[in-house]
Amino acid sequence: MKCVGVLGGGQLARMLALAGHPLGVRLRVFDPTADAPAGAVAEHVRADWGDAGAIERFCDGLDAATLEFESVPIATARAVAARVRLAPSADALAATQDRLAEKELARRLGIETAGYAKIDRAEDIAAAWGRTGGRAVLKQRTMGYDGRGQAVVASPQDTLLAWESGGRYPSVLEKFVTFERELSLVAARSTAGETAAYPLVENVHREGMLRRTLAPAPGVQAEVAAQAASIAEHILRELDYVGVITLEFFEKEGRLLLNEIAPRVHNSGHWSIEGSQTSQFENHLRAVLGWPLGSTRPVGCSALLNIIGTLPDTTGILGLPDTHLHLYGKEPRRGRKLGHVTARADDRTTLENRIRALEQMIEGAATPRDTEGGP
Ligand code: AMP
Repeated sequence: MKCVGVLGGGQLARMLALAGHPLGVRLRVFDPTADAPAGAVAEHVRADWGDAGAIERFCDGLDAATLEFESVPIATARAVAARVRLAPSADALAATQDRLAEKELARRLGIETAGYAKIDRAEDIAAAWGRTGGRAVLKQRTMGYDGRGQAVVASPQDTLLAWESGGRYPSVLEKFVTFERELSLVAARSTAGETAAYPLVENVHREGMLRRTLAPAPGVQAEVAAQAASIAEHILRELDYVGVITLEFFEKEGRLLLNEIAPRVHNSGHWSIEGSQTSQFENHLRAVLGWPLGSTRPVGCSALLNIIGTLPDTTGILGLPDTHLHLYGKEPRRGRKLGHVTARADDRTTLENRIRALEQMIEGAATPRDTEGGP
């Protein structure tokens, strides 16, 4: 029996644990919160990120360690990596947990992003506007997720206000991109250097949070798919990356701009549990354990819908054909991802009909207060 340690015990760790069970892989999660969703299905070391004794206990007897949360303190990642093989590495984590480092990595590799400038002090704002102009998005460099720590701004004065009221964090100011759509790519690289990628998927966000994913993304041009594959290959190689990685893109005029790199399994890959031959969770475990990767081939087409803030009528959802419900065991709270639903179909028309029925059930249950926040 193998044992894999996961830094972070949220729903991603929970789904990793569920994927590990049939393969004879046990999971141990490290998370400071008492009600961490993965605690129900994995051993839970509950301690602060800086607790050296707890890190020691967490690492004891592990075959490999990984993470499900990019804001794990680097010092914790390094302390773990000193005791057990950590995949992705602490260096890969450092390069992807800071939006500025991420953009500089993209620039080094010749990968296009939205125009950006860093903001460390109030005085940086005027010069930053010279780079972005018109309309921009102010983003905290670290710790932001699901649209938190972000604001859409329309002038230098606006930016100063948003930066001050946000807590004066080191930030980046990004040009606002009027993209046609958002796409993401989930890919895996194993300790043996084997790589595999799922098809590009199309994502719809509202208030900075993912609402819906279509997998595979409809109507992807061959050049766009090739561009995504080439970007993934460059990043995986540059970071000597092991595990699943997710690249988020804006599609504009037939080309991709890289928005964000997530060094982990990703919400836009949840459809792969039922919608592909091997889920992103299983492939992540295979990758970090040095096992052969499984096929990423999709089975028909799938849609993923997030359940945010309020639980819908789950009996209604379960009554729909080819529809799969996942709940994370979290208490309902505004803006909180409580679960997701994946609908599968053999053709797009059937899938569209399932999506409409599901959206009514999920969004009908939510109140505007459930999803407030973010840009
Ligand atoms: P992020 O946390 O960077 O993934 O941003 C969350 C969401 O906000 C993205 O998925 C987009 O929908 C939107 N967004 C972020 N950055 C920009 C940008 N530069 N221009 C337009 N929309 C953006």
